[in-house]
Amino acid sequence: MDFLPIFLNVKDKLCLVVGGGGVARRKAAMLTSAGAMVKVVAPALSGAFAGMPGIGHVAEYFQPGHLDGAALVIAATGDSAVNLDVSQQARARNIPVNVVDNPSLSTFIMPSVLDRSPLLVAFSTGGASPVLARMLRSKLETLIPQGYGRLAAFSARFRDTVKARVTSLAKRRIFWEAVLEGAVAEEVLAGDEAGAEAMLLGMLENARLPENERVQQVGEVYLVGAGPGDADLLTFRALRLMQKADVVVYDNLVSKPVLKMTRRDATRIFAGKKRDDHVMPQEKINELLVRLAKQGKRVLRLKGGDPFIFGRGGEEIETLAENGIPFQVVPGITAASGVAAYAGIPLTHRDHAQSCIFVTGHLKDGSMNLDWEALARPNQTIVVYMGLHGLAMLCAELIGHGLPDSTPAAIVQQGTTQNQRVISGTLATLPGIAQIEKLQAPTLIIVGGVVALRKKLAWFNPGKP
Ligand code: SAH
Repeated sequence: MDFLPIFLNVKDKLCLVVGGGGVARRKAAMLTSAGAMVKVVAPALSGAFAGMPGIGHVAEYFQPGHLDGAALVIAATGDSAVNLDVSQQARARNIPVNVVDNPSLSTFIMPSVLDRSPLLVAFSTGGASPVLARMLRSKLETLIPQGYGRLAAFSARFRDTVKARVTSLAKRRIFWEAVLEGAVAEEVLAGDEAGAEAMLLGMLENARLPENERVQQVGEVYLVGAGPGDADLLTFRALRLMQKADVVVYDNLVSKPVLKMTRRDATRIFAGKKRDDHVMPQEKINELLVRLAKQGKRVLRLKGGDPFIFGRGGEEIETLAENGIPFQVVPGITAASGVAAYAGIPLTHRDHAQSCIFVTGHLKDGSMNLDWEALARPNQTIVVYMGLHGLAMLCAELIGHGLPDSTPAAIVQQGTTQNQRVISGTLATLPGIAQIEKLQAPTLIIVGGVVALRKKLAWFNPGKP
């Protein structure tokens, strides 16, 4: 190690920044955010300092006397002679000094910081590559949820209580692991600290009981939207929970690349649902989730797209709520938005569509029970889920209710995946084209003027149109 990483308490301490430009301003801001009293020494301050609260300005050139009483000093002038002077004077007085971008004149360096106060992640390349440090920082941003600061603060509140009640060090560690990896932490991250507190106190009570009298801790269920197929479209939260779950209950629509990102040693249960082929009826799925959670498991219920859009997610959480199982719902990118983006079809557009409507084209007793008047409106995009088998009927009804038969329409097969295919035509021609093409589920139908924009826009698309 070239440096000793430490976290310095500078609250209410005098810290000196020499320099009046943008870099000096950033350093001053960092110091004030750690509670320091900041004095900026520079003949004049640049516009960057405008409106900056909480700093004192000494409008002079640097002199050694400015260092009196300083706990640390940062030299951030563009003048190497001044920077050298500050460094020498500070070192002569044993005041820690940092010269920006000059480790050889510095007795300390400033790390890159990821701030989730009170949780702080600080790291440095020792000046070797600030760009690398910045890249790493953005990676860590995605890895460490925003709410971890709150989680750390929450843990601090209960540290003494837990210490008093769970006296063995080893047992305390196990207790805290259960808290920080389980439902309590999830409640905090979801913003329900009162709920989290009740749970933690319940766990403490339970931990005090003799082993054979302890209540089995209930697990939890994460109802997570897996998006339309491309694993890059998962949310950070989805990914975090996917890597935490003990059991994964997934649908047919969940793509292989997405499934691969679930925890490697998790048990995987296929809950099916191809058209007319319900491997597991909905009630059985609902019961399964409850049963697994009651065994104390962290259950990931992974569903294609968004769980609340034609996904029966509502029914699943209803059963969970009735059984007092903690759960959380994580939205996913629904097929309509994912597929449309990858196919180069904007769902709304100033000139073509001021509204967009999602419907299910699922056939019930051979017919489609839809509000055709509401659908067959001008300047509206219609997205039909589960509509392929009723395509001919759909197009005929829309024409019958007033849409021109020349209205552009497209079918997207397995959108956002490697197998994405888009076929397009009009309300008059699409059913015929679809019969010739051998389409594979899942497919999404998009109807409206926006479909015609595809030729212009598909070129710019990251996916394979
Ligand atoms: N909850 C899901 C939809 C479930 S209904 C969501 O929000 O996307 C299943 C229907 O979604 C399929 O019949 C199909 O119409 C559509 N669908 C889902 N993923 C798709 C994909 N990758 N490409 C095309 N259509 C898709």
